[in-house]
Amino acid sequence: MDVRQCDFCRMPYQSTGKKICGDCLLKLDEEFIAIREYLWEHDLAGIDEVSEATGVSRKSILYLLKEERLIVGDDNGYGGGILVCESCRKPISTGRMCAGCKKEVLSAIQESVGPVSKPRRRPEPYEEENFKGVAKLQLKGK
Ligand SMILES: [Zn+2]
Ligand SMILES: [Zn+2]
Repeated sequence: MDVRQCDFCRMPYQSTGKKICGDCLLKLDEEFIAIREYLWEHDLAGIDEVSEATGVSRKSILYLLKEERLIVGDDNGYGGGILVCESCRKPISTGRMCAGCKKEVLSAIQESVGPVSKPRRRPEPYEEENFKGVAKLQLKGK
């Protein structure tokens, strides 16, 4: 087994193919359930509101957004710049990359032409300041 650094808590752990350690996986699952229950009652609640009501940290909420388990959207359909494509920096509403860049990466893999042409910029650290508190959360698939 591989020893990797947990994507969430940054601690080393024995990887079983997941990006985060078992502790974080459990914690995030529980937090996701709490958020989901809150959003059933309060659709499009703001991130601050959800964080306060459920006790889930904003760091966790951002992680769930990046894992495409939650969607953030404002009147323009984007979460006030909370999430940006890790490749082209375009604002997105869920996940780590915009649809266009995802497609590029996929076709690059399918053609097996080696590394993706565009150099991948370092992902932004999970900074609380990135939140503007106005964005509305939605459940994926609603
Ligand atoms: Zn962890
Ligand atoms: Zn992009």
